[in-house]
Amino acid sequence: MFIGHFGVALAAKRLAPKTSLGTLIFAADFLDLLWPVLLLLGAEHVRIAPQIMRMATLDFVDYPISHSLIMALLWSVLIGACYYARRRYAPGAWVVGAAVFSHWVLDFVVHRPDLPLWLHGEIRMGLGLWNSATGTVLAEVFCFGVGLWIYTNLTQPVDKTGVYAFWSLMLFMLLGWISSIFAGAPPNTTSIAWGAMLLWLLIPWAWWADQHRQLLKSPYGAVFIFSFTL
Ligand SMILES: [Zn+2]
Repeated sequence: MFIGHFGVALAAKRLAPKTSLGTLIFAADFLDLLWPVLLLLGAEHVRIAPQIMRMATLDFVDYPISHSLIMALLWSVLIGACYYARRRYAPGAWVVGAAVFSHWVLDFVVHRPDLPLWLHGEIRMGLGLWNSATGTVLAEVFCFGVGLWIYTNLTQPVDKTGVYAFWSLMLFMLLGWISSIFAGAPPNTTSIAWGAMLLWLLIPWAWWADQHRQLLKSPYGAVFIFSFTL
């Protein structure tokens, strides 16, 4: 899954309004942010396999540290706890932890049975929605669309940056996803890893956009609108 994860992050703002969208995207996409780092370190492995699924060209040979069920649970707890230690905002900590785990759940829906249960062993899971082009597109668009609708109904820009930084980020995500569908198989595994490393850019970008937006119904928002109209 690609933009569906960003949909979860956008929607999560509703449950943890004080948490930055940058943090929420970091959480919802953490397993995929970690993955290219582990690929480059040689700790996890991927193989190019153009015909493996209708909507996938990669064979995830082994990725237990980033994508096993047990590690996904562990990362969720760890990142939720780190967030709480730093921010002391309990709703945010729960939501950040849940967002990390949501990544595994959405991947479970789309991947073929390649998501490991444990660090070792043969048990692998996945429902294989990537075998259906229509199903994949509907699921991605639905998750992203609902998230975008929730976030834009919850926040409003405080200045022009709040408009342009936010909508350019949404467009970048959307175009990134569409081009990944039509791009076909990547030339080599190093280019996969470096391509996936680009996802890290989304964190400061989303944080920056979120800084220039405010909650519509927060007291601060009301004060701001009031002082603005004066
Ligand atoms: Zn993933």
